[in-house]
Amino acid sequence: MKTRTKNNTLAEIAEFLKTLDRVAVTTHVGADGDAIGASVALVRLVRRLGAEAVFCHAEAVPDYLAWLLPGEALRELAPDHDLLVADTSRADRTGVPVPETGARLNVDHHEDNPLYAEYNLVSPRAAATAEIIADLYAELDVPLDRPAAEALYVGIRTDTGGFNFRNISPRAHELVADLLRAGVVPAEVNERINRRGSIEQLRIVGVSLANAVRYGDALISTVENADYERTGATELDSKESIDQLRTVAGVDVVAHLREVPQGTKGSLRSETVDVGEIARRFGGGGHRLAAGYTTRRRPNEAREELLGMLEGVLDLGGGR
Ligand code: 5GP
Ligand code: MN
Repeated sequence: MKTRTKNNTLAEIAEFLKTLDRVAVTTHVGADGDAIGASVALVRLVRRLGAEAVFCHAEAVPDYLAWLLPGEALRELAPDHDLLVADTSRADRTGVPVPETGARLNVDHHEDNPLYAEYNLVSPRAAATAEIIADLYAELDVPLDRPAAEALYVGIRTDTGGFNFRNISPRAHELVADLLRAGVVPAEVNERINRRGSIEQLRIVGVSLANAVRYGDALISTVENADYERTGATELDSKESIDQLRTVAGVDVVAHLREVPQGTKGSLRSETVDVGEIARRFGGGGHRLAAGYTTRRRPNEAREELLGMLEGVLDLGGGR
């Protein structure tokens, strides 16, 4: 895998996109609204420029986002496709194996992105990768049609926690106004992405909330395989609890630790503490205020491991 260090300008990437003939777009594993939204909008942009483009991802797209996809996602990358990667902080987090020659484009907003592709457009000030893709539409004078606008709207809406996080800017709101003018109806999108839950998901969220323990300025919830079995829900269903965990007053770091086949997946959130830095110490990454990692330990041990790491950073209240 090549690692290059150059970040390109919007104009350079616009020119580069015009040179492509056959493209596959992929994103990170465990895709969320921005991953899929930005990818779909990029697929549509490349098609508008006259090239062939497909979305390629080895995992199933989550049900609540499947409506954004133009047909089925390809499961394997064909060798004659140029690979464009959206919203992915590291090449090894892509949903398909990156070819020897590397990805051709890396478009992202994670500040820890090491600029791993031949062309890189990484802008940590963007609230979502979707915001950067919207800039490319503008740069290339490609008007936003409704499906592209919906994809971009889902990206911005999900990565800003519904316009609530610190990453939201006046500019992002102005873009959202343009997306509404292009035909996005927020209530319909809300219906499609937020009212798709199941009773199983509701139950695992309940378990996850009930399992929350406060350690001074930290709040940690753990969910285990037995909880999935008991509720019939999945690991990702349990992560739906994270925004509710964040409602506790006076907590600086929230961690959701859920059992996965490799051990435990941790999702970290904060308003003040650089949790990206903490995630990187465990080999993970992400943003300053929203980050994640995977550890080989099971959830109970993963909690102790995390508390050990937080000890020097936060007041854990001596309650351990
Ligand atoms: P989440 O907790 O929603 O899975 O992830 C929060 C943020 O951290 C996202 O931007 C995601 O891309 C990033 N992230 C989560 N897990 C990992 C990981 O294992 N490695 C890296 N590099 N980033 C991660
Ligand atoms: Mn994103």
